[in-house]
Amino acid sequence: MSDSAGDGKLEVKQASKEVKESENVAEKYSAMTVSRNSDINVGEVSSAFTAVPTHKSVKKQIHFANPEEKQEFSKFPTKAGRRSLSRSISQSSTDSYSSAASYTDSSDDETSPRDKTQLNSKGSSDFCVKTIKQAEFGRREIEIAEQDMSALISLRKRAQGEKPLAGARIVGCTHITAQIAVLIETLVALGAECRWTACNIYSTQNEVAAALAETGVAVFAWKGESEDDFWWCIDRCINKEGWQANMILDDGGDLTHWVYKKYPNVFKNIRGIVEESVTGVHRLYQLSKAGKLCVPAMNVNDSVTKQKFDNLYCCRESILDGLKRTTDVMFGGKQVVVCGYGEVGKGCCTALKALGAIVCVTEIDPICALQACMDGFRVVKLSEVIRQVDVIITCTGNKNVVSRDLLDRTKNGCIICNMGHSNTEIDVASLRTPELTWERVRSQVDHIIWPDGKRVVLLAEGRLLNLSCSTVPTFVLSITATTQALALIELYNAPDGRYKQDVYLLPKKMDEYVSSLHLPTFDAHLTELSDEQAKYLGLNKNGPFKPNYYRY
Ligand code: NAD
Repeated sequence: MSDSAGDGKLEVKQASKEVKESENVAEKYSAMTVSRNSDINVGEVSSAFTAVPTHKSVKKQIHFANPEEKQEFSKFPTKAGRRSLSRSISQSSTDSYSSAASYTDSSDDETSPRDKTQLNSKGSSDFCVKTIKQAEFGRREIEIAEQDMSALISLRKRAQGEKPLAGARIVGCTHITAQIAVLIETLVALGAECRWTACNIYSTQNEVAAALAETGVAVFAWKGESEDDFWWCIDRCINKEGWQANMILDDGGDLTHWVYKKYPNVFKNIRGIVEESVTGVHRLYQLSKAGKLCVPAMNVNDSVTKQKFDNLYCCRESILDGLKRTTDVMFGGKQVVVCGYGEVGKGCCTALKALGAIVCVTEIDPICALQACMDGFRVVKLSEVIRQVDVIITCTGNKNVVSRDLLDRTKNGCIICNMGHSNTEIDVASLRTPELTWERVRSQVDHIIWPDGKRVVLLAEGRLLNLSCSTVPTFVLSITATTQALALIELYNAPDGRYKQDVYLLPKKMDEYVSSLHLPTFDAHLTELSDEQAKYLGLNKNGPFKPNYYRY
């Protein structure tokens, strides 16, 4: 991803320039007088729902709680048939931030869901899940998630009277977890009809998928799909007689890719794509560059409320969880090297340091390297420390960061794992040679044994550790999910002409709004600018409070 990601980043800047225009328009309507110490009034937050009548053919005006303050706001399918799970995953389908945990042990039922005929209690068979019988259990999981997603629930409550997504037919491809179920049910409450599939073959919580199917969401997903199942599910989501999607919510770009390849006509009805992942966004920029993007797209990945929260805080919390569950390792005094000191690396380093690990960092970028130094981490080359370290964690988004040559030199018992989006960071393929013995010691834990008896502990076969082996914090997902919901509402309701066939960042006011919705959880009290201060800083008292180029 190194080269391509570089390109993507350049374009993010360009896109953010373009969206400024709409942001300025949004500003006119925005009066984000977030009640500082209690609730947020959706009716007071405009830009998030702005349907600015800049064009005659405004599709829809949305009114919220306070009507007087009117708000303006290449992957290809294999034909190989069902294959063994161990090798069947698309790279982009590992680019994720969601929980892999399913509390359901469904190993007792080996029948493929594709071979079953199942009905929900209303008699519908328009879904394919492991077993619909788990719906009640899944409902409890969703209710637990709701407890920590109060901002999203508050958005649901406030906007559901207005149904800003009435008429929206959303086809989604994300992790199917309790937290995402809360998002899906929010979209339904706001008026959307949803068909959903999983963006990762391992991350579906079967009971949650069952609960969604029971309520009438057409879900096609189960934990442990084969690659063939993966594409079959995507196809079933889109290809339904008498049903045409008009919005796409994607995580990884596989769904968007499938529609481009197989059903290009569907784009005639699509009002926009909302994409969450680095990989998916990169694909969208490529399409845009090639002049092939035929609808507007929102890059949620680069929203502050995604990048600065999901990537940093999610990893800060889940790195320890993933390592503990798989290895029972004690961190105090352990020598750990973290490769890459971006948002994910910073989160991992902070957590490990707090538990007494001796952490050093590798970096290619002098700025991030200097940040690591100032944060108290030694910046080293991997080759310099490889013989001493107890744990190696990659989070670069790059490839071959831990090569076979380095793996040969690790000490006995070294734990190696990856937190980056794809399984390219550790050269796992190079370990599949006859002289090395692989021993599966636990689910997702392999010992690789060298001829001299040295063992290396490889987690999740080099795939995202937290996704594969732990859960991630619900609250962080609430922030991302709220951003996704707002992006869908914005794109769906945008008047003709506001968004062209390009990739956009969400206006800053939406990021601020999403953050505001989450502040009451902490009983955080924001300071309000006085008129004099606002004038001095040249700001609108209600935001946005920072220019687009501000780096939080
Ligand atoms: P980032 O771009 O902020 O950070 C990556 C860092 O790695 C950069 O500072 C870069 O200079 C450095 N780097 C690149 N090649 C390197 C090399 N060979 N050696 C050492 N350092 C190198 O990205 P980020 O937001 O930190 O995300 C990193 C990866 O994690 C991405 O693949 C992203 O998709 C993924 N991600 C994972 C999770 C998760 O839950 N596990 C969450 C968000 C993002």
